[in-house]
Amino acid sequence: MTDWKATAAKYQDQYLADLKQLVAIDSSRDVENQTDEFPLGPGPAKALNQFLTFADRDGFTTKNIDNVVGYIEYGTGDDYFAILGHADTVPAGNGWDTNPFELLVEEGQAIGRGTSDDKGPALSAYYGLRILKDLGIEPKLKIRLIIGTDEETNWTGMNRYFETEPAPKAGFSPDAEFPLINGEKGNVTFETHFDGASAIAEQQLLSFNAGLKENMVPRDAEAFVTMEDPDTVIQQFDTFIGASPVSGSASIVGKQVHFEVVGKAAHGMEPRNGINAGTYLAMFLKQLPLDQAGTNFIRFITNNLHDDSRAEQLGLQFHDDVMGDLTMNVGLMTYDAETGGVINTNFRYPKGIEPATIQQHLEQAAGPYQASVTQVSNMEPHFVPADDPLVTDLMAVYREQTGQAAAKPEVVGGGTFARLMEHGVAFGALFPGATDTMHQANEFQPVSDLMLAMSIYAQAIFTVTK
Ligand SMILES: [Zn+2]
Repeated sequence: MTDWKATAAKYQDQYLADLKQLVAIDSSRDVENQTDEFPLGPGPAKALNQFLTFADRDGFTTKNIDNVVGYIEYGTGDDYFAILGHADTVPAGNGWDTNPFELLVEEGQAIGRGTSDDKGPALSAYYGLRILKDLGIEPKLKIRLIIGTDEETNWTGMNRYFETEPAPKAGFSPDAEFPLINGEKGNVTFETHFDGASAIAEQQLLSFNAGLKENMVPRDAEAFVTMEDPDTVIQQFDTFIGASPVSGSASIVGKQVHFEVVGKAAHGMEPRNGINAGTYLAMFLKQLPLDQAGTNFIRFITNNLHDDSRAEQLGLQFHDDVMGDLTMNVGLMTYDAETGGVINTNFRYPKGIEPATIQQHLEQAAGPYQASVTQVSNMEPHFVPADDPLVTDLMAVYREQTGQAAAKPEVVGGGTFARLMEHGVAFGALFPGATDTMHQANEFQPVSDLMLAMSIYAQAIFTVTK
């Protein structure tokens, strides 16, 4: 019997030296500097090639496909087991206390862009594979560690891989959390379009803006209106704010009143964790005598979308016993009196309900406001049964190495590479209770967690390919 943890521990120094090299590369999408050779810019390809260079050094077969995706192979045969990670990161962004591209190991934490998403975990999986090879273990089922370079945006590389290479028998993605994710809800986004005002009215909604991304609950919202009696309106606003779970301010700018509302941001996959500044601002504005076009935009929000993460007002409440509730996030709301408005709704839906049904209900609700609905994007729900051998094998390894006997697989609202495989799950590497710093300043992951992930991956790959 191999002592996986003791074996993995011997690799810690080499692992951290390799991680340092990966973190040093700014591999965020950089299409402004794209060339024929580097379709996503040079950074993502550089990080991919760094991964492949490690594998060449360690004696693996490697392949780079057009500088957008590549793989590291071990074993022989046609069928294979896949591990899907990625070498790109989100941009460094502001707010770092240290250089995001210089790996810092301090008080047991590995700090730097990509340590947690996904350079650290993908490298842990690579070392899991390397451990098998160094132990001389020949897998019965060939293994490919596939490295994408555009996970954070359009999945360009991984989609290319699945278009050009044969599909794996099964696989996992070390790009989420432990214990294991065996189901992902579908993810569909619609835009509802509103007309602008055909003429200038004395009391009018001039503009409305809320939200940054379709998959986030808007923290901030603002609107400009013209009102005959701005002072009274500001008093009304203060009363509204006093009775609401949001904060806000209003000011008079010439003949206009400017309202600002602050709620609470949250990931769009569970809008209950946030407070939507935009729909609250609409709740206030519906009290004002606005023009018809502005009223249409505001009333659609207040009558159909406000404070309704389960889309009950749209008649879309739906629950699947395994995959949970359909949820709705109203992530973007924009209106301009001249050009009109757009409201972006993002739904996470379990198996058993179709995007066409969601669109129908939205269209019914939009009709009275002369608004039209278009589907922007869709990903189907993905599910591997909990009693599937892939799930039970990986869970057994996880329980054995962590001692968490009660750990269970989960269904989430997010989308991982796992959905690209008919038999695919997400497996690690954020442990339950660990701080999630993905996409944030000062991203980190405890070295001990990355090492435990390495040891779990080694045994897991061994188990599912022996
Ligand atoms: Zn990731």
